[in-house]
Amino acid sequence: MVDDDRSKRLWLIEPKRKTSLSEVIEIQGDAFRMDRTLFRPKSRAYRHPQRSDTGTVWVKGGDKHRLVTVYEQGGQIWHRINGPVPPVGSELQCHLDQEHRVLDSRAHTGMHLLLAAMHQLEAPPLVADPEVKGGGRFRVEVRSWRVDEEALAAWVQRARSFIDADARVEASFVARDAAHHGLDEQRFEEGEGFPGPGGSVRAVTVEGVCSYPCDGTHVDRTGEVEDLLIRETHVSDGGAWVIIGEVPA
Ligand SMILES: [Zn+2]
Repeated sequence: MVDDDRSKRLWLIEPKRKTSLSEVIEIQGDAFRMDRTLFRPKSRAYRHPQRSDTGTVWVKGGDKHRLVTVYEQGGQIWHRINGPVPPVGSELQCHLDQEHRVLDSRAHTGMHLLLAAMHQLEAPPLVADPEVKGGGRFRVEVRSWRVDEEALAAWVQRARSFIDADARVEASFVARDAAHHGLDEQRFEEGEGFPGPGGSVRAVTVEGVCSYPCDGTHVDRTGEVEDLLIRETHVSDGGAWVIIGEVPA
């Protein structure tokens, strides 16, 4: 086992991978940790939280169980299954719920395209972290006291032009101190515009469109997003304009 933090997060280094043979290395209550995992927890490290993955886990010589939850705590990734906790040293055959992952990846790329369109067309600053919610939906909140239908239509139209361009989407790792040069700033009302950990930052680049620090999952080309719709939009009492976007299931 390579004791490098990135080697354990297979969705970052081998995003196409659907199965893994992993070993249980630690138990804490009814949760366990593996030497490497396919399953992405919900993470706020890059200010782009995405619903966690699901899947199944076979304990070698035993039963098949549904993954109930995967979460990050203290920099480690913990799993719970709907069965007894497999003991340390168990070999587990893990299978990703691919349909769930693909829908979230399409929604996440779609969210980047809308954010890029909003940035290009000088949208108000983000008041919350943009988030992939599941069901093909994502949520973006900007500072505004009214819904500006005209601006929203222009952002969606621009985002759709990026989908039509079928641009390549690629993930890479860049040095933290180079991030400010090579990446696009996100206009958050508060906090870091180039979010991510120290050292090395994972960047997701849509060719010719945008490059954001991101630990989410994505499609390979923008055409796979298919379309981008606005499911709901309203202004909260606090002056946040909430936009729920959706990619078709
Ligand atoms: Zn992202």
